[in-house]
Amino acid sequence: MKIARTIAELRDAVLSARGAGKRIGLVPTMGAFHEGHLALMRRAADATGFVVVSLFVNPTQFNDPGDLARYPRDETRDAELARSAGVDLLFAPTPEEVYPPGFATTVEVARLSAPLEGAMRGPAHFRGVATVVTKLLNMVQPDDAFFGQKDAQQALIIECLVRDLDIPVRIEICPTVREADGLAMSSRNVRLDPEARRRAPAIARALHDVEARVAAGERDMRRAVHAAKSILSEAGIHPEYFEAVSADTLDPVAHLDGRTLVAIAGSNCVARIWAATDASSSPQ
Ligand code: AMP
Repeated sequence: MKIARTIAELRDAVLSARGAGKRIGLVPTMGAFHEGHLALMRRAADATGFVVVSLFVNPTQFNDPGDLARYPRDETRDAELARSAGVDLLFAPTPEEVYPPGFATTVEVARLSAPLEGAMRGPAHFRGVATVVTKLLNMVQPDDAFFGQKDAQQALIIECLVRDLDIPVRIEICPTVREADGLAMSSRNVRLDPEARRRAPAIARALHDVEARVAAGERDMRRAVHAAKSILSEAGIHPEYFEAVSADTLDPVAHLDGRTLVAIAGSNCVARIWAATDASSSPQ
């Protein structure tokens, strides 16, 4: 596995892989790899002939400078894990390489960026995500790019920008990888103190409770979410949001009659935990 630091090095490597007739896959990440990242890389290695993983802690998507400063970083470990997952090229640029002096352009996906995480973190967050993902797609020009369902709103925003800007790439959303007790894997989980870590699986239990209610015939999503909220309150978790929304528009869903996403963000004093599930089901 090679490591590229500059866009020129990246382009050379991708060009020669393309010249050899290989399909190019891209997995954008911010590093601190866990099984969730590795599952995306393995899926990319299955689906394509040359896998590029970008490792870039994108400063423009952090609304909290403390969160950026504390974000876990260990490139040596990450490089080894990526190599073992079948990655061909790790693209690890500096912030100056990505945002040279004079950088002035941003990508903003209206509407989808406003609710849920957008409301919690402010408009700069998804603007930062949309801009850096657009840049990475232009730098690598992959055939396929792989993202996690855990960050369901982000995935929707990326699908929208690719459609709207006519970027010729296939986007694949991969399932959320969870710890044995249900907690969605996240680079930030290492920052949970033991007490918060003990409580955190209640988030997954609450999501699954909504799914079970829907599977049992419940169609009133406000009632389903309200009932599942007690699982969180019993665990001492006060969610920043816990909502059933359209999986296409993110508009609130009162009555289930199409693809529906149930999204939770749980916060406590040390970290935020994200989880999302697709509780979609056909109307009955
Ligand atoms: P990050 O490094 O947190 O920006 O994540 C990089 C990619 O990995 C994003 O597409 C995430 O949605 C995805 N990802 C992170 N955690 C998980 C997980 N537990 N399961 C599946 N995908 C994940």
